[in-house]
Amino acid sequence: MTKKSEFETEAIRQQIPRSGFSEHSSAMYVTSSFVFDDAEDMRASFAEEKEKNIYSRFSNPNNTEFVDKIVAMEGAESGYAFASGMAAIFSTFGALLSSGDHILSARSVFGSTHALFTKFFPKWGIETSYFNINEAESLESLIRPSTKIIYAETPTNPGLEIIDLEFLGKISKKHGILLVIDNCFATPYLQQPIKFGADLVVHSATKLIDGQGRVLGGVTVGRADLIREIYLFSRNTGPSLSPFNSWILSKSLETLSVRVDRHCENALALAEFLEDHEKVSKVRYPFLKSHPQYDIAVKQMKKGGNIVAFEVTGGLQGGQDFINRIRMCSLSANLGDTRTIVTHPATSTHSKLSIEERNTVGITDGLIRVSTGLENISDIVEDLSQALNY
Ligand SMILES: *Cc1c(COP(=O)(O)O)cnc(C)c1O
Repeated sequence: MTKKSEFETEAIRQQIPRSGFSEHSSAMYVTSSFVFDDAEDMRASFAEEKEKNIYSRFSNPNNTEFVDKIVAMEGAESGYAFASGMAAIFSTFGALLSSGDHILSARSVFGSTHALFTKFFPKWGIETSYFNINEAESLESLIRPSTKIIYAETPTNPGLEIIDLEFLGKISKKHGILLVIDNCFATPYLQQPIKFGADLVVHSATKLIDGQGRVLGGVTVGRADLIREIYLFSRNTGPSLSPFNSWILSKSLETLSVRVDRHCENALALAEFLEDHEKVSKVRYPFLKSHPQYDIAVKQMKKGGNIVAFEVTGGLQGGQDFINRIRMCSLSANLGDTRTIVTHPATSTHSKLSIEERNTVGITDGLIRVSTGLENISDIVEDLSQALNY
């Protein structure tokens, strides 16, 4: 479905048809299968001569509503919803790649995505090599005849580096390579990679799209011909999103813009507070003027997002001591919740990387990642402030 109204309106008014009960808010269709009217309906549905739900592994009205909203919000042609962000990422690669193909990925990607590249894809003859985010100019020299996909996340986790989407879009077009962007940290509200030339956008809907720490979900949107391949792969391999989770996520999208506005407002205020704090040696936030890629961030993002990264003194021990002094904020591995979450990447989300690997992507021992929530900013600042004042 193409974009008809403004972003916020699509997020609310893009709705499946009402049932006979005339419900205002969309109904939930918790059904594994759908019935046919007669033999001809059965034949025509399977022949795809009509758009009809057959079985919820293939499609379901609630999935359709959720996907149609993301499609409109990202400016995409089509999409498919998955049980998690990783299911979306795995199925996207699985559908489009063959043995012998090569992925050129940004070095800093989500941990499980990195595990796909290093531990699983080699089993199927798919190779991955990496470009450094700050050396995007050397990207072209890394392209091989077998390079099928250029892959990146921006902002990165947890270093919050910004990669130039316009540049990646141009390079991928010039070489006829697919550009796939994980847009999880920005959400379609803050950044729309398709505008800059991405062919596909993947999301973990578990994060800011749900935004309330309730359900897992994922989605891939983009070019219709590619989504068709992803759909055929997925309807046979079974990573589809449950109707209940689709319903939750579709509701969540109705408030995405107002939630993300407040998340960003709180995160910027927090980043500014930390930047002036004597116990903090470095603060990373895309919309701080001190950010090394600030110019790119403001070019491609509406606001800076909800993640703030900073460095406490005292190395690994300093990081753990800070975590132990936190009172209100949650210690959790998730992000993009209403509740502010504080993590110590070196001993948690990124502990599987070697020290060298961590250093090349800017994860130092004292690095703290904050997923700024929707509590009153004064309470967030107070908690972090008391944890810094030792
Ligand atoms: C969380 C996350 C994923 C994986 O999503 P799940 O829903 O946990 O499977 C992928 N990419 C990024 C950037 C993430 O933050």
